[in-house]
Amino acid sequence: SGGGIVAYADSSRPEDASGPPRQDTPRKKKVVVLGTGWGGTSFLKNLDCSLYDVKVISPRNYFAFTPLLPSVTCGTVEARSIVEPIRKMFEKKKKDVSYYEAECFKIDATKKAVHCRCAVGTNLDGNGDFKVDYDYLVVALGATVNTFNTPGVMEHCYFLKEVEDAQKIRKSVLDCFEKASLPNISEEEKRKILHFVVIGGGPTGVEFTAELHDFLVEDLVKIYPAIQEFVKITIIQSGEHILNTFDDRIASFAETKFQRDGIEVNTGFRVIKVADDLITVKSKSSGGEILVPYGMAVWSAGIGTRPVITDFMNQVGQAKRRVLATNEWLRVRECDGVYAIGDCASISQRKIMDDISTIFKVADKDNSGTLTLKEISDILEDICIRYPQVELYMKSMHMLGIADLIGSAVGDSHKESMVVDIEEFKKALSHVDSQVKTVPATAQVAAQQGYYLADCFNKMDHCKEHPEGPLRLSGSGGDHHNFRPFRYKHLGQFAPLGGEQAAAELPGDWVSMGHSTQWLWYSVYASKQVSWRTRVLVVSDWARRFVFGRDSSR
Ligand code: FAD
Ligand code: MG
Ligand code: MG
Ligand code: MG
Ligand code: MG
Repeated sequence: SGGGIVAYADSSRPEDASGPPRQDTPRKKKVVVLGTGWGGTSFLKNLDCSLYDVKVISPRNYFAFTPLLPSVTCGTVEARSIVEPIRKMFEKKKKDVSYYEAECFKIDATKKAVHCRCAVGTNLDGNGDFKVDYDYLVVALGATVNTFNTPGVMEHCYFLKEVEDAQKIRKSVLDCFEKASLPNISEEEKRKILHFVVIGGGPTGVEFTAELHDFLVEDLVKIYPAIQEFVKITIIQSGEHILNTFDDRIASFAETKFQRDGIEVNTGFRVIKVADDLITVKSKSSGGEILVPYGMAVWSAGIGTRPVITDFMNQVGQAKRRVLATNEWLRVRECDGVYAIGDCASISQRKIMDDISTIFKVADKDNSGTLTLKEISDILEDICIRYPQVELYMKSMHMLGIADLIGSAVGDSHKESMVVDIEEFKKALSHVDSQVKTVPATAQVAAQQGYYLADCFNKMDHCKEHPEGPLRLSGSGGDHHNFRPFRYKHLGQFAPLGGEQAAAELPGDWVSMGHSTQWLWYSVYASKQVSWRTRVLVVSDWARRFVFGRDSSR
């Protein structure tokens, strides 16, 4: 078999003890997981850790609930409330897993080993470097910030990726208010110090802006009344609209609300340079440059590749890519035993046109050289599982079923007796591949991928015993698998907009905005907490904020 889920040859599970006697106890296969973010922890939570020898490597010994990071920047929620120690997760679920607090700096795919460096300082024997062998590697390293090489961004901007970043932002906002309150500061200087600039109008930038605005108007202006008139928030977005991955209605609701709140939304501008107290922005339409004095800037304009991933992509012939390419079963292309999930990976969906002749042969059961509508219908489900673009295409063309799709190739005869040859079959499917969709870099995707991959690992035994698998088309395209490919299920997305208002986009074109949506947001995010401990902490942080306001000490 060409890979994918390579069957786990032997098992030490007690229920297998009744099988034929074995000469020696089989060694458990070694699974190494890189990263304890959304992808890594979701994989570990669902993995049957008794089947494998599992090692986890990550420089952070906790999982962070990133969707609440913007709330940490202003003290709406405490940092401790959104993190869960990963050793605690293993202990609670009684999972036998080794954890190493270290950073992986090299993946060696030929020797099947990862090279790591101790994260806690180097006063160990040697310099704290070590090597870990694997049979299967799960790469869930996430992404880093992307400055697009804009000068000065690294030195002068704040970021919002990690818990420490959120804490730094909180401290810096309060620093600005204290600085502007000092005597002998001119009005112009005050205006500069209290100008908060958010670069990037995606969900993170918008949510941070909303949090910051609430913090200013609900808490800070009360304790710094003398300087409130000098406070200003600006968003700089290079696209035409903020929140451009959301429905248009949500984008314009957000823009209107921000305008009403006095937040300046500058769309169509790119930041080209950041200096100590000036940001240079360029208008995309006129090309003119403007200098913007500022006190504090947060950069949230895109995600980049970690060096260890770049190095690995060079090794496996994926140079010049931004993320690792995997197949639909999340295995890194051309790489045995290595899987990649979450923000550091993307699935390259096979094109149906590459496999069209194989599909035709499989469907043509009577070897007549033509396909009847029934022959196509019989295999349609398998086609749709293997090539999700077929369903998307039919939906986008408002086609009710396969008869419409085939009818489009043979003229307008939507009859049961339609018959197509290979050319007509190709013609009917020729535009389908235009509907291939990439999955977004979100926690939702990473978590679903981790869950799915663990499922595959848990069932490797079963798949070995049933190599034909459920899919008749599994062999098409040369990659042989016996497990359904990963399919992302979009559950919708939220955009909290401040002032107890939020916008939500849910499956089935359902858009909702306003105060009630904020309550939906509270309940969804409370329920999504990884443990009861963090759930109680988060909810009590929210309650504390309602009653006493945010804590404005540093
Ligand atoms: P991560 O969760 O980033 O995990 C990467 C892991 O790898 C971390 O544990 C890290 O410590 C570890 N690591 C890094 N380098 C190394 C190394 N060299 N060796 C070993 N380990 C390493 N998504 C949503 O769906 N909804 C939201 O509301 C949402 N809000 C967000 C808000 C913010 C502020 C941010 C930053 C992101 C948000 N996201 C949201 C996106 C979401 O957090 C990411 O898509 C998700 O974290 C991706 O999961 P991952 O496992 O790929 O990476
Ligand atoms: Mg992860
Ligand atoms: Mg994370
Ligand atoms: Mg991805
Ligand atoms: Mg036939």
